[in-house]
Amino acid sequence: MFNFDDRIAVAVSGGKDSASLLHILAKMERQHPKASLVAVTVDEGIKGYRDEALQIAEANCQILGIEHHVVSFKKLFNFSLDQLIEKAQRKGKRELSSCAYCGVLRRRALNVAAREVEADKIATAHTLDDEVQTILMNIFRGDISRLAKENPITEDVHPLFVQKVKPFCEIPERESTLYAYVKNIRFQDTPCPYALEAMRNDVRAMLNSMEEKYAGTKFTVFKIMERIRPALAELVKKDGFTECVECGEPASSSLCRICELLRQLS
Ligand code: SF4
Repeated sequence: MFNFDDRIAVAVSGGKDSASLLHILAKMERQHPKASLVAVTVDEGIKGYRDEALQIAEANCQILGIEHHVVSFKKLFNFSLDQLIEKAQRKGKRELSSCAYCGVLRRRALNVAAREVEADKIATAHTLDDEVQTILMNIFRGDISRLAKENPITEDVHPLFVQKVKPFCEIPERESTLYAYVKNIRFQDTPCPYALEAMRNDVRAMLNSMEEKYAGTKFTVFKIMERIRPALAELVKKDGFTECVECGEPASSSLCRICELLRQLS
């Protein structure tokens, strides 16, 4: 996933997984003097949740002596997530769940942040549990295109996209949590107020119960997906990327998804 001289932007939310990842990568980076780390945090603007996370992320960066870069939805898109959802509801144009809005905007914000800090890679703390949940959610939604594209190492499809890697993709969430406890790492344990709406919760509960009964289920799903992904990629049409006529960011059509959503709300 990494080269010895990479500048790595670690996506740090303040939660246990990203806090563990930051500490582990910091330890590894000390052995690779040509590599460098910078932490990036996306402030979605979620009242009563993100402020504490930002403080914890900053505290971890200070302990490790790592530069911390924050980008906000408000600055990038003129709306905090709270404002965007409130506005979509008021206009009767809420076509996505809160997490789906958040996901689209956060992917863009992370990419912009990584470019701002001139990173070669973005490392995110998606665990084995996250990966398998996403695989099943894409199957349940019938989204074959995303099923084929969700790769632990993203492909180079446009020069404005910074490559994303997921070093914890084979690490169960329990182990990254355990690491944070054993190493006495500070993390936020308050859940996001929007998390309860998410389909992911039901998928997580189902997978945990399967894993309890049939140990190894999560790993098996992850590994089987690794094997069939190349065949799936052949099946789905390779979307070419162009630049959005409004914001200039990479887009699969003339108007990117974010500009389309923001236009609907303006
Ligand atoms: Fe965003 Fe949903 Fe995560 Fe909250 S739970 S930070 S809304 S993706």
